[in-house]
Amino acid sequence: MLFARLARVSREIAASSARSRKTALLAELFRDAEADDVPIVIPYLAGRLPQGRLGIGWKLLNQHIAPAVEPSLTVREVDARLTRIGSVTGAGSQAERRRLVGELLAAATDDEQRFLFGLLTGEVRQGALDALAVEGLAAATGAPAAGVRRAVMLAGSLQAVAEAVLADGSPALDRFRLTVGRPVLPMLAHTASSVAEGVGKLGSCAVEEKLDGIRVQVHRDGDSVRLFTRTLDDITDRLPELTSAALALRGARFILDGEVIALDGNGRPRSFQETAGRVGSRTDVATAAREMPVSPVFFDALSVDGRDLLDLPFAERHAELARLVPEPMRVRRALAHGPDDLGAAEEFLAETLRRGHEGVVLKALDAPYSAGRRGASWLKVKPVHTLDLVVLAAEWGHGRRTGKLSNLHLAARAPDGSFAMLGKTFKGMTDAMLTWQTERLKELAVEDDGWVVTVRPELVVEIAYDGLQRSTRYPAGVTLRFARVVRYREDKSPAEADTVETLLAAHPEVTR
Ligand code: AMP
Repeated sequence: MLFARLARVSREIAASSARSRKTALLAELFRDAEADDVPIVIPYLAGRLPQGRLGIGWKLLNQHIAPAVEPSLTVREVDARLTRIGSVTGAGSQAERRRLVGELLAAATDDEQRFLFGLLTGEVRQGALDALAVEGLAAATGAPAAGVRRAVMLAGSLQAVAEAVLADGSPALDRFRLTVGRPVLPMLAHTASSVAEGVGKLGSCAVEEKLDGIRVQVHRDGDSVRLFTRTLDDITDRLPELTSAALALRGARFILDGEVIALDGNGRPRSFQETAGRVGSRTDVATAAREMPVSPVFFDALSVDGRDLLDLPFAERHAELARLVPEPMRVRRALAHGPDDLGAAEEFLAETLRRGHEGVVLKALDAPYSAGRRGASWLKVKPVHTLDLVVLAAEWGHGRRTGKLSNLHLAARAPDGSFAMLGKTFKGMTDAMLTWQTERLKELAVEDDGWVVTVRPELVVEIAYDGLQRSTRYPAGVTLRFARVVRYREDKSPAEADTVETLLAAHPEVTR
């Protein structure tokens, strides 16, 4: 396929507001693509390079090269040339890359040059492309759109499905069935700021404990059990106690979704790092399993007795789960019957936090399982912790933040009156905040080594974070998880900043 064709279609899709027109353009493009074009055409349409980042930015592209009059480049040739440019290394590589980019631009028409610029600088944005491409693929091949959509969900990739359906038509969709032993991407959750907001959005929903463990998908087929993580890594060999638990269940063929977590003798969660340590370690598994056993806690059933449950409402999937899995091995839950029924849900959240867990996940009872998606039908609610901390230093930013002081070094007050660093963050800052803090921190600077600017510890900043974790890197032995800036507290002096002592007292799960 000519690259010019792709450039034109991409431009027309961006310019058109009618969905049917966009779909028709894609369908026509897909019909004309050869099998070898597909793995390039799909990412290009979405504004991505199959090679990932090639580091060809404005500096290399800004060469003012006269465009070709007639299109001649093919999609595959552009891809091959870009691969070559990406592989140039060593002395003189920048000049060579510039020469090769120049050659490519000289071979491209005006339209193609524009498309290349957008593609290479990451500015071709076709956010909604996946949904459109599903419809385009269906129209191009005669396959049902719902079938293509489901296949994409199960494959976790539009490209794999596109290649299969364009080559073999509708029957290829059968290859992407839910199959015991083959993991699918787990359904993910959005965030709600409170139980009331979440229930308001979902209506009737389950309110489940949110356990701070590791997501696990358990597949059993007769005597064979396989365990997969959220990123579909096979961790079967690391957690023998989960295999035993799965074999003890009454069903012989199923796929269950849940969380694995290390609990202490009283059923309270151990620290996240202890669970993660077990899941991450392959060495001496038998001893580890004895010393730090982990438990599966299930919350969903994707397939039972060979029946695919993904499209069933959650209420029915959960009924299947309850049939198969005894209560102690299921996540604790309450039900909320709409926004007028918040009492039990709020109480359940409070109880869950008292038991040492992170928060709750609200789940619409009528929603299907959307593999791989951050579906709006699962909403997590976690209490946000905040601290007022002192800025000790800041690091100069990169990229868009060049010239700005960005990554903040944060500290709480230590018992001896010094400041104990707890971690760093560059998250949560607006552009205005970046500008302001750069100026303010420059005023407070005592040293600048070109990387880190150390400042007088005078500025107090309010930081939100999700929890604490142990750390040998910082003096208090802990660091903040997912720290982000909320706002500056110029109304507070460093003497009013939070102390290490109160911080540790607020997180007994880490210090125990
Ligand atoms: P987050 O990683 O903060 O986006 O939260 C989503 C993760 O919470 C999931 O991937 C699970 O690993 C975990 N989780 C804990 N409890 C539940 C639950 N009851 N339902 C769904 N996910 C849960």
